[in-house]
Amino acid sequence: MAFRHDRGFRRFPPEMTKIKCSECGKEAEVPFKPREGSPVYCRECFMKKKGIKPREEQEESQDME
Ligand SMILES: [Zn+2]
Repeated sequence: MAFRHDRGFRRFPPEMTKIKCSECGKEAEVPFKPREGSPVYCRECFMKKKGIKPREEQEESQDME
């Protein structure tokens, strides 16, 4: 039994588009084409917008009786 999956040969070279971050104004490249008129962010700002923090903040404000 021989299964041939010649069609599984797909390549999508990531087309990098140069953008200017709407947040910090830094130049960056994104692997997609941003829509005109909509804000685009660099990686850092994108992560910030998503709420991803580089460091986890631990809350140590527990009230003990
Ligand atoms: Zn930015």
